[in-house]
Amino acid sequence: MSSIQAIRGTRDILPSESPLWAKIEEIARQTLASYAYREIRTPIFEQTELFARGIGEATDAVGKEMYSFEDRGGRSIALRPEITAGLVRAFIQNKLFAQGGVQRLWHLGPAFRYERPQAGRQRQFHQLDVEILGSRDARADVEIIAIATQILTCLGLQSLSLDLNSVGSGEDRQTYREALVAYFTPYKEDLDADSQTRLTLNPLRILDSKDKRTQEIVIDAPSLLDYLSDDSQRHFDAVQQHLTNVGISFNINPRLVRGLDYYTHTAFEIQSTDLGAQATVCGGGRYDGLVAQLGGPDTSAIGFGMGIERLIILLEQINRYSTVPELDIYLISRGEKAELQSAQLANRLRQNGYSVEVDLSGSAFGKQFKRADRSGALIGLILGDAEAAANKVQVKWLASGEQSEMTQDDLIAQADDIKSKIAQARH
Ligand code: ATP
Ligand code: MG
Repeated sequence: MSSIQAIRGTRDILPSESPLWAKIEEIARQTLASYAYREIRTPIFEQTELFARGIGEATDAVGKEMYSFEDRGGRSIALRPEITAGLVRAFIQNKLFAQGGVQRLWHLGPAFRYERPQAGRQRQFHQLDVEILGSRDARADVEIIAIATQILTCLGLQSLSLDLNSVGSGEDRQTYREALVAYFTPYKEDLDADSQTRLTLNPLRILDSKDKRTQEIVIDAPSLLDYLSDDSQRHFDAVQQHLTNVGISFNINPRLVRGLDYYTHTAFEIQSTDLGAQATVCGGGRYDGLVAQLGGPDTSAIGFGMGIERLIILLEQINRYSTVPELDIYLISRGEKAELQSAQLANRLRQNGYSVEVDLSGSAFGKQFKRADRSGALIGLILGDAEAAANKVQVKWLASGEQSEMTQDDLIAQADDIKSKIAQARH
């Protein structure tokens, strides 16, 4: 019988990789706590309408890539293609705005898009989503960008670049949109098929096209930056000034338009040259209209989504974090009395702060030793019936082979000393 395979575009995160995930989560949590952000957890599926209304049918994520289906009760449901819309729904539904002032929120979890799977692009992927709601101040934009930058830097990632743009207000974009359509229409036949459709649906997205010929045409297209109102320009200037002030360098990229419709003013992306075609690790921007559009009070907001799988690819390249489990003790026992006692000893050791893996095989000592060597533990403890009768144990430092006999009580009493020796051996 053939075995069942995982769904195309999904992957298992195996124990050899999961320490990297834990590291990302640890650094994200620390950084976010230091900026006073609080975690929120929202469902991975929502009413399809939330995404249609919030993100927009004209986007790839909703129009072409969304996993939507009817549930058994005939409701139209969708797996979330991104996290912001659900988070804003929760903000409104739970009246988090009523707490007044600014809400700083984050969430890490899976999102789903029906895309062509390739390196750094999956159908189930994970995002760290960070949002600040309730501030129009340029310092909020800079706080969000600084958090993204800090997480990446703390992880040890280099060769990253920050692209920055302003997509203006909805009104600025309306005028710009007309200028774009006027510019692209004479070239319509030369544009790639997607861009031809976008010409009527979402002309800004043509700027984002990865098609070579389209990109050539885009070079001379009017720049959005020439269509910013005074207000929008002021905000954009302030963001740049504050970024410079906190020492974050950036490139202005007037072609940067984010895939999702709800963005206003600031748009940014962080890319790495070490990622190949899927270079964008983090994308974000301001979305002053979304909360109201989803039925909440008028609320300015800005946030980002960071792609965890792409981060993992980068972390594997820099090879800075060990994925070997940090195990203190591998406990070997053989004989009826010894095996009985080993469970008690292991528990005493764990209560005293050691991590302990117990060999359950009952096989010859030689075989158990081989497994001890492979386990990554620093100490092998050997308990035979003779040791068990005397409440003793053989302590073997696996790297050097140095071995001595100790009472089990001494092993516990000297736990602090032994653990510091373990820590030294490890680093
Ligand atoms: P791209 O242009 O690469 O398709 P996007 O603009 O669609 O990205 P966003 O919606 O801004 O992406 O999502 C934020 C981040 O989530 C991206 O920068 C990327 O790191 C990650 N991401 C998006 N789609 C996928 C995917 N299918 N697989 C893995 N990561 C993804
Ligand atoms: Mg995409």
